[in-house]
Amino acid sequence: MQSSRGVGVSWSLTRLRRIVTGRIEEGADLRLVSRWRIGGSAAALVEPASAVEARGTLAVLAEDCTPALVVGNGSNLLFDDAGFDGVIVRIGRSLGSISRDGRTVRAEAGLFAPRFVRELGRFGLSGLEHAIGIPGTLGGLIYMNGGSQRKGVGSNIVAVRGCDRSGRAFERSHAECGFHYRGSSLQSDDLVVLEADFAFVERDPASMRREMIAILADRQRKFPKNLPNCGSVFLSDPLMYRTVGPPGAAIERVGLKGTRLGGAEISTLHANFIVNVAGASSRDVLGLIHLARTRVHDATGFWMDCEVRHVAPDGRLRPAHEAAAETAVSRPRAAEAAS
Ligand SMILES: Cc1cc2nc3c(=O)[nH]c(=O)nc-3n(C[C@H](O)[C@H](O)[C@H](O)COP(=O)(O)OP(=O)(O)OC[C@H]3O[C@@H](n4cnc5c(N)ncnc54)[C@H](O)[C@@H]3O)c2cc1C
Repeated sequence: MQSSRGVGVSWSLTRLRRIVTGRIEEGADLRLVSRWRIGGSAAALVEPASAVEARGTLAVLAEDCTPALVVGNGSNLLFDDAGFDGVIVRIGRSLGSISRDGRTVRAEAGLFAPRFVRELGRFGLSGLEHAIGIPGTLGGLIYMNGGSQRKGVGSNIVAVRGCDRSGRAFERSHAECGFHYRGSSLQSDDLVVLEADFAFVERDPASMRREMIAILADRQRKFPKNLPNCGSVFLSDPLMYRTVGPPGAAIERVGLKGTRLGGAEISTLHANFIVNVAGASSRDVLGLIHLARTRVHDATGFWMDCEVRHVAPDGRLRPAHEAAAETAVSRPRAAEAAS
C-alpha cells in the first residue's frame, strides 16, 4: 500500500521484516485493536518483540516518513471509519517483564496494567491498587497518567525510559515527566514509553487483596461490562465537579442517558460511557460526544473535554471532542430523534 506520505508502507515493511521478530500484519482490522471495536483498517500492524526492536521500528518508520501510531491495548482510542493510512506499532505482551528490588520495581510498557497491580499485591507493595480495573498496558497508563479514585500512576514513578519518534533513547526522572491530571510531558513531547521504575510502600498482601476485590466489585456494579467501550469519555474538571458534579451526572441531568445514534449509545448504566451496541461507526460516537458536550454546555456553562482520543486517517491524534466538533455538526438532531 502506498501511503500518502513517504516512500510507501510496503517498503517500510520490507525493511522491518529484517529487524523485527515479532508480528507484522498487512491490512490490519482496527476493530480488533480498539476496545470500542470501531474503525476501518490500517496499512499494517507491527508488534516489536523487544525494546530494541521497538526503537528500530520507529527509526525505520521515521526515516521512511511512514505515518506511525504507537498503541497499547486500544482502551482509550477511537479509530476513524476511514482507517489509518500508516503503521500501528503495538507495544504489547512481548514487552512484559517485571523485576523487583526491595520496594522498587522495574516493569516493561507492554505489561497489562491489572496484571502488574496483582503482582504488586503478591509482593505486598502498595500504591497502585486504584489501577486494578484499568484495561490498558502500563505504557498507555503512564503516557495518560491514568488512574482512578482521583489518583494517577505517576505518583509511584521514579523514572521512565523509552524513545522518541525517531527511535532515539531517553530517560526521564519523575520530576522531568511533569505528571498532572491525565497528562505528562511524555504526551506533550510525543515520547514512547518502553520501561519504568516504580517505588512503593510495604503493606499486608491480604488487606491489599481485599481492597482490590472491593474496587473491582464497585466497578462491575457501576460500569457497563458486556458492550464494547473505551471507559470514561469525558475528563472530570475540578471546578465543574464542585459545582455541577462529574460528567456522567451532568449528561444524565440533561436527559441524554440511553440516547442512541446509529449503533452507539450513551450507556444506560453510566452516562460518561458510550457503548457500541450494534456495529457503531466512529461518526456515531463523535455525534454523541458532540451532542453531550453542547447540551451540557448549554445547561451549565462548562465545556467538557474528552479523555478518549480520536485517530484520524493521517494518524493525527487528538482529544475526540475536537474531531467531534469538526465532523458531527449536523448529527445532533438525528441523535435527539433517536433518543
Ligand atoms: C472499561 C474501561 C475502564 C477504564 N477505566 C479507566 C480508569 O478508571 N482510569 C483511567 O485513567 N482510564 C481508564 N480507562 C481508559 C484506558 O484504559 C486508559 O487510558 C489506559 O491507560 C490506556 O492504555 P492503553 O494501553 O489501552 O492505551 P491505548 O488506548 O492503546 O492508547 C492511549 C494513548 O496512549 C498512547 N500510548 C499507548 N501506549 C504507549 C506507549 N507505550 N508509549 C507512548 N504512548 C503510548 C497512545 O498513542 C494513545 O495516545 C478505561 C477504559 C475502559 C475500556
